[in-house]
Amino acid sequence: MKKKVIVLGGNFAGLGAAQKIREYAKDEVDITVIDRKSYLLYVPNIPAEVLENRNPEYSLKMDIPTTLKKDKIDFIHAEVTKIDPKAQTVSIIPNERPGAEPHTIAYDYLVIALGAKLAYDKIEGFAEYGDTVSDFYHGNKLRKKLHDGTYKGGPIVVGSARFHQGDGAKGLEPYPGGQIPDAMAACEGPPVEISLGLADWLERHKMGDASKITITTPGEMIAEDAGDKVVPQLLDVAGKMGFKYVNNTKDIVKLTKDSIVFANGTELPAELKIVFPDWEAHDFLKGLEISDNQGFIITDLLMRNPKYKNIFAAGDCAAVTMPKLGAIGHQQCEIIGRQVALDLGKMDAEKANETLKPWVFCIGDIGSGKGFYIRSNSWFGGDTQVLKMGRIPYMLKMQYKTLFFETDGKVPVWGNDVAEIMAEKI
Ligand SMILES: Cc1cc2nc3c(=O)[nH]c(=O)nc-3n(C[C@H](O)[C@H](O)[C@H](O)COP(=O)(O)OP(=O)(O)OC[C@H]3O[C@@H](n4cnc5c(N)ncnc54)[C@H](O)[C@@H]3O)c2cc1C
Repeated sequence: MKKKVIVLGGNFAGLGAAQKIREYAKDEVDITVIDRKSYLLYVPNIPAEVLENRNPEYSLKMDIPTTLKKDKIDFIHAEVTKIDPKAQTVSIIPNERPGAEPHTIAYDYLVIALGAKLAYDKIEGFAEYGDTVSDFYHGNKLRKKLHDGTYKGGPIVVGSARFHQGDGAKGLEPYPGGQIPDAMAACEGPPVEISLGLADWLERHKMGDASKITITTPGEMIAEDAGDKVVPQLLDVAGKMGFKYVNNTKDIVKLTKDSIVFANGTELPAELKIVFPDWEAHDFLKGLEISDNQGFIITDLLMRNPKYKNIFAAGDCAAVTMPKLGAIGHQQCEIIGRQVALDLGKMDAEKANETLKPWVFCIGDIGSGKGFYIRSNSWFGGDTQVLKMGRIPYMLKMQYKTLFFETDGKVPVWGNDVAEIMAEKI
């Protein structure tokens, strides 16, 4: 009998894991992906769409069931409500129509790729006065505010709330002598990207420039995972453009009509408050044997839970994924595919047991056809830190999206190699 693989979550990590398992384990497995929505939300290009006055809902959606069908992978449209690692079952409630009955599904292998809960509801005043770019709804709301004249040209603050990282990746050594460090913010590429893009937008719309924007971070240094050489270079560029920068805000306490209040007591005037919240684990994952003290799924560097070896995690829900970057989730999907293939005798151990060596790989749009490109592993104990800015990173960001949609999310390995050569050698 074929082994039954259940993948929870069908966005970047869930789609990627399911496809990689099919690629390496071939027809030895039946694979089913379960998600509460039936489309992939292509998050990284929302800021670019918002600033170009395009509703991201129209351009950044990929249909998941038909994409999976091409690899003979089933899809269930349902809310996942429970995981029972001992019984090897998950509980779901089909959610196309309210009132559906719960079901329990058994698995041989489970991949948890459920992302995280973006806790905007914990920020006082966010509903009335806050903006962000992490999904279609909020992106479109900000797009309208910018382009229909609601925003009058007042001060702008961009920053993150404090992230509460769990203890699930303690002791892991991805590079010799390295670690998965603790961070005060979950993912600070997006605040950097939207700040740079907004400065360009202000100039293009004759409403000002970077001097209107204050970039904040709860930590000592913004985007510290990019590396201690790269970040000062970025801050230097931003400073020369006129941006203001406030570090050690500790957390966002509340938003008011005209300001943003931080946990360190600072209050900054702001007409526009673009914030990124705490990335929290989903409630039903908290307190499980497979979860850390914040509810993120514990794995080793082969993405397996140390106690339940048939349970894997990938993407933002995995404790080891720091920062919460899709690019790191992508690396993990490759590992999971190989590990399942190894178990089923479809791959040899030498090839399959290559452990996670995380890379921060981040390409941001900064407006007017330019972008930034960061490739770094120094935060984890590696020796590389690269920052490039200009037209090529912009082209790579846009091309990556096109390639992602054209290949059903299976961006070929040469995609990254070409990006590296173009950004770093040309
Ligand atoms: C503005 C912005 C820009 C970004 N830019 C980049 C970038 O340039 N490069 C990069 O690498 N990363 C970037 N990121 C980070 C990237 O978007 C995330 O790391 C990535 O989306 C994580 O993928 P995931 O599949 O792990 O989780 P998610 O994308 O959060 O997907 C989780 C899936 O699980 C489903 N789900 C959750 N709970 C349940 C449940 N109970 N039942 C059923 N289904 C459920 C959800 O519907 C969703 O489809 C950016 C993030 C933001 C906010």
